[in-house]
Amino acid sequence: MNIPFNKPYLTGKETEYMVQAVQNGQLSGNGEFTKKCQTFFQERYGFRKCLLTTSGTDALEMCAMLCGLQPGDEVIVPSYTFVSTALAFLREGAKVVFADSMQRNPNLDAETIESLVTPRTRVIVPVHYAGVACDMDAIMAVAKKHNLLVVEDAAQAINSYYTSNVRHQTLSLGGIGHLAAFSFHETKNVTAGGEGGLLVVNDGQFLRRAEILWEKGTNRAEFFRGAVNKYGWVDMGSSFLPAEINAAFLWAQLENLDTIQQKRIALWKCYYEHLSQMQNVSFSLPDLPDYATNNAHLFYITFPTLDERTAFIQFLKEHNISCVFHYLSLHASPFYRDKHDGRVLPECDRYADTLVRLPMYYELTFDDIDRICDTIRMFYANR
Ligand SMILES: *Cc1c(COP(=O)(O)O)cnc(C)c1O
Repeated sequence: MNIPFNKPYLTGKETEYMVQAVQNGQLSGNGEFTKKCQTFFQERYGFRKCLLTTSGTDALEMCAMLCGLQPGDEVIVPSYTFVSTALAFLREGAKVVFADSMQRNPNLDAETIESLVTPRTRVIVPVHYAGVACDMDAIMAVAKKHNLLVVEDAAQAINSYYTSNVRHQTLSLGGIGHLAAFSFHETKNVTAGGEGGLLVVNDGQFLRRAEILWEKGTNRAEFFRGAVNKYGWVDMGSSFLPAEINAAFLWAQLENLDTIQQKRIALWKCYYEHLSQMQNVSFSLPDLPDYATNNAHLFYITFPTLDERTAFIQFLKEHNISCVFHYLSLHASPFYRDKHDGRVLPECDRYADTLVRLPMYYELTFDDIDRICDTIRMFYANR
C-alpha cells in the first residue's frame, strides 16, 4: 500500500453544511458560515478582527496593501518560505530584503534582523515554519525600536502559541503582530475545501480599511451595519471574500479542530519517539524552542548533505512512501536572484538542500508510522 505525503481529511459534516449554505439562499461571501468562522477565531484566539479570504496568499496581499508601502520601501522576509510571503509585498512595489534562517530551525533569525534594518525598512514578516513560533519578543522589540510593522505569516500556525517572557503570557500565533495571515489550503491542518485563508487585524488603525479592501474598495460593510446610508467606491481593494460554500466546509473542520489536533500531535510524538531511539543515523530531529508549542503541522528531519537526502527520498519512494523536500531559497530563485543584494544565506540554503517532510495527515495510522520507521532503518542498514 502506498503511503502518500498528504491526504485531505473530511470530518463528515462538510457536505451537510455546504448544502445548508446553498439552502440559505446567499451563495456569495460574508453570510452565516463566514461569520461563524470569523467569530471562532476571534473568540478562541483573542484576535481583534478576522476576515475570511479565498487563500492565504490573498490574506498576505491584504496585509501588504494595509501596510501602505511606497516604492522603495523595504520589507524583511525569510528566504526559506513559500513564494507568497515575498510576492505579496513585491506586488506593492516594495523591495524584499531576505533574512537567513536560524541554525536550530528554519525560522528567521531574530538576532540578525536588526542588521538588515535601514531608514527605508517598514515591515518585518516572520513565518512560523511548521507552526513553530518565531522568537516574537526579539522581533517585536526590533520593530518597536525602529517603528516597523510586523505581519505574521501564520499560514501553518493554527492553534499554536508563543510564551512571551516580556509580557509574561502565552500568546496565540497570529495575535502578536499588527496583522497576520492564515491558510486553509488542503495541505494545512484544516481546509476550506481546498483553498482558503484568513486575515487577522490586531492593530485598530487597520480595522476600517481592511473591511474596505475586502469589499472590493467599497464601504459596503459599513452600509450593511447601517453606519452610512449608501455605499460606493472609496479605496483600493479586490475580490478577497470566499463563497459561503467554502466557509461552510471550513466550519465543519473548525468544529472538529480539537480532535484533528489531538490526532496530529499523537502522530507527531509517535514519529519523534521512534526516530529518536534509532542508532547510527545521520538525520537530525526538529528542535522546538522552549517558547514555542507544536501544532503538528508537519514532521521534518534534516540530513547532512543533499546527496543523502536525495537517496533517502528515492529509497522511501521505492518502498511506496512519499516524502518531500520543501522550499528552495527565494533569494536564489530565477525570479529574484538578480534583485537580491548578494548576501549569502547559508542556513536557508542548508534547509533547502537537506530538509525532508515525512507523511503527516489525520488518517495516517500508527501502523503506517511503524512501517515508515522500519523503512528508514532499512535505508541505513543498506548503506
Ligand atoms: C501555505 C502557505 C502560504 C500560502 O497559502 P495559500 O492558502 O496556499 O495561498 C503562505 N505562506 C506559507 C508559509 C504557507 O505555508
